[in-house]
Formats: sequence, structure tokens, C-alpha cells
Amino acid sequence: MTSAKKKGRVFSGARPTGRQHLGNYLGAIQNYVALQDEYDCVYCIVDLHALTTVESTEDLRQNTYEMALDWLAAGIRPEETIVFVQSHVPEVTELHTILSMVTPLGKLTDLPTFKEKARMHPHNINYGLVGYPVLQTADIALYKANLVPVGVDQAPHIEFAREVVRSFNFRYNTDVLLEPQMKATEVPKVLGIDGKEKMSKSLDNHIEIAATPEETRARVMQMLTDPARVRRSDPGNPDICNVFTMHKIFSSPEEIAMVNVECRRAGIGCVDCKALYARNLNAHLLPFRERRALIGRDPNQVWDVLADGKDRAQKIARQTMAEVIKAVGLP
Ligand code: SF4
Repeated sequence: MTSAKKKGRVFSGARPTGRQHLGNYLGAIQNYVALQDEYDCVYCIVDLHALTTVESTEDLRQNTYEMALDWLAAGIRPEETIVFVQSHVPEVTELHTILSMVTPLGKLTDLPTFKEKARMHPHNINYGLVGYPVLQTADIALYKANLVPVGVDQAPHIEFAREVVRSFNFRYNTDVLLEPQMKATEVPKVLGIDGKEKMSKSLDNHIEIAATPEETRARVMQMLTDPARVRRSDPGNPDICNVFTMHKIFSSPEEIAMVNVECRRAGIGCVDCKALYARNLNAHLLPFRERRALIGRDPNQVWDVLADGKDRAQKIARQTMAEVIKAVGLP
């Protein structure tokens, strides 16, 4: 049950990608933190999903820990929000199996995300990759979430989940599973330091939010700027420069206005401009980094949060599965 004062239950899952970068922070974590004020939130580290494409599971445990630590340090409040690891609640695989019986195979193989993954991993097109959206649907439905925060480009996934839930409820003449709604979220596209691709670890164009101030500054200094600014005396165009985009998030209105003017008349050099951004970014991340260091002193704290989250998530999951099994008529 959702608590009376909150508007509903939100579910969101993220693959265990280890220490989070600025793209994760601006695109998901900040939103996760904000949603807690209005909704009951269930945040899941989807390690089973990760198995569909990971080549080695060696870092899975550490990556899970690092990601959970980042979430907690960023302001996820485990006393009210459920934070847990997908595989710790195996009921999700049971619901996945049951939902797979009402999911047409053609629909799965037609999904653009499947085609894209198959293209990216041509030597590992496994069954899990095809069934990925069904497992996603099971994640959402198992915890009776009515809202899933996603960017508009993810809307087809939620529509797919709704269809699967509808098929299940129709097939078994029940209403035990909730059709989730999409909570449209603005997900900013955060470019990497190359200024071209979306920030990502695999492209090594990222800035880790838990990096030291010195590491952060060094990465910022590598950022690509307006390529037309070859010499310090060349005027630049901040509108096409990723450093300026970041200033707009992390700098004061006065600094943003100053860069906007001075860049265009070569009044400020890119080195100084980046140094200013690095300083502001470090200042913004300081409280997060301090909390991270504090929590990280005792790694058991993080595992305890995940264990408690598992208990609370499993309580909901068992209730849902009891209803599902009854609806299906399994003996
Ligand atoms: S001065 Fe700043 S905004 Fe202008 S091109 Fe250089 S880094 Fe980009």
C-alpha cells in the first residue's frame, strides 16, 4: 500500500554501472531524489537485466555497491524509499515467466530497442535480450507501481508494459496487476567531454561525480569547446559549446551572462572558462562527496540498506505473487 500522504508509487530500475557520472546524476539521480517528496519510491538496481549484455560478472558486486553508495550520498532516503537489488527478490523471475505466456514473440522482436541491442551485440543475441521488456514489465507490476519516470523517448516501453499487463488481466479475468502510467520526465542529454556523444563510461568521455576535485578539473580541462576558437583571440560561440551548456546548470546567472558575452568577443579564454566551470561543479558536488566519504567509511551501511530494501520489496512482491498465482489458477 502507498502511504496516505503520497500521490502513488514510483518504480525505477537502473543497471549496476558502478560509480555514477554527471550524465547519470543530471538525467536520473536528481530526479530520483526529487520524486521522494511526492511519491512512494521503489528504486531497483537491476543486476539481472545487466546479465543480458555483460561479458564478465566479476565487477557486478562492486558496481552495485558503488552505485547504491552514490544514490544514498546524493539524497535517496532509505528510511522512506525502498532501495534494493533486483536479484535479491526472485519473485520477479516468477512473474516474468508468467507474463511471458501472454506476450507475443513478434512484438518483442519488433521493438526498436531489441533491434538496436542485437545490432550492438551481434554475437550474444540471447533469449534474455528478447525477453528484456517482459522482465521490465514484471519489475513494475510486481511492486504495484502506478508510475514510471521515463523520458519521452522511453514511452514505447511503458506502453508495452501496459499492453502486457492488460493481456494478463484479460486472459485471467482479473485486475490484480496495475497498468502503469508513464511519468514523463525531462531527461537532459548530457554530452561527454568529447562534446559529441552522450556521456558514457564505455566511451570514456565521462566525469564521475565521486571524482576528486583535481580529477574533475583535469576532465573538464579536456572538454571540447567551439572548434572555431583556435587562438585565444578568436571569438567563440557559446551556443555550440558544451562547456557553456554546463555553465547554465552549475554557474550563477551573473557568470552565465559573463561567459555568454565574453566568449563572443574573446574576452575570456577557454582555459579560464573551463576553470570557472570546474570550480562551480566541484562546489556543487562537495556536499555529495562529503556524504559519500562518510557513508563509505562503513560499507556495511550500504549493504544493510540494500538488505532492508530487499525485505520491504519482497513483502510487496510476495503479496502480488499470491494474487497472481490465485488469478492464474496454479495449483
Ligand atoms: S570561452 Fe567558454 S563557452 Fe566559449 S568556446 Fe571557450 S569554453 Fe566554450
